[in-house]
Amino acid sequence: MSRYAVGIDLGGTKVEVCVVDERRRLLARKRMPSEPERGRERVVENILRLVSETAGDLPYEAAGIGTPGTYHPADDIMYGSPHTPLYEKPGLLSLLRDKISVPLVIDNDANCLALAEFFAQCYGRYSSVMAVILGTGMGSGLILNNRLYRGPNGNAGEIGHATLDIHGRKCECGRSGCAEAYLSGPSLSRRYRELTGERLGPQEIYLRYEKGEQQARVLFEESFRLMGEVFANAVNVLDLEAIILGGGVSNIPLWYDHVPPLMMKHLFGIPHRHVPILKAVLGDSAGVLGAAFLALREMKLMEF
Ligand SMILES: [Zn+2]
Repeated sequence: MSRYAVGIDLGGTKVEVCVVDERRRLLARKRMPSEPERGRERVVENILRLVSETAGDLPYEAAGIGTPGTYHPADDIMYGSPHTPLYEKPGLLSLLRDKISVPLVIDNDANCLALAEFFAQCYGRYSSVMAVILGTGMGSGLILNNRLYRGPNGNAGEIGHATLDIHGRKCECGRSGCAEAYLSGPSLSRRYRELTGERLGPQEIYLRYEKGEQQARVLFEESFRLMGEVFANAVNVLDLEAIILGGGVSNIPLWYDHVPPLMMKHLFGIPHRHVPILKAVLGDSAGVLGAAFLALREMKLMEF
């Protein structure tokens, strides 16, 4: 008999739900606005309604939810989601847990993406990888030795807030010179604006690069070096075998050819290691699928 699990991906403005079976097959998937501006009862109501619409009559046994920031159970708060202040107030997830009829497992949304991408393209080939999500911010999830490594507070692997220059650009986290302050989508746009006075998104700047525009070249060449440096730091600390790149900025194809040789130059120890940068393959379904994997693990159907 088939068994079913629910995955929930709670974002700042939308919530997405999926149902998978014991073989990790995606059976249904729906999304709707999460409406945090209407208060936490409303957000919980929206999630529950979407779960019930997506699952229909399927008897799911557990649910996993991926959220921005880091959930702290004792405080019942998701820390580190400054763009959605409601999520940084206590009570949202405990209310959901009280109302949903099955065990609920909570993890960071970047960890969920890392899990889904790991099983989609690394499992059996690499045992230790970091998935980096470059979009509005720079989040990441860590798989070490085939296990999701969260750290005691669920806060491990925050490479986006590793410092590239202690006197560098101000980061939204309050520190200076974090990788995110150079490489996130808004950071790339900001740096381009400083060079040209023009306001463009990362994809448009990439098109300028392809046309041979000098400032776009300056921006990307500096970015290749910075990304190579920060990824080399991660590989040197954790002995990673691959890095997965996801999020909107990962759609710029330049990273995959230009960054690895620069990263490789900075790897410590064993020479000639090939550490590939892999493009995420699941698109925007990775987060919700990884959340469902949390539920499958709760049901003892997956190990990680
Ligand atoms: Zn930072």
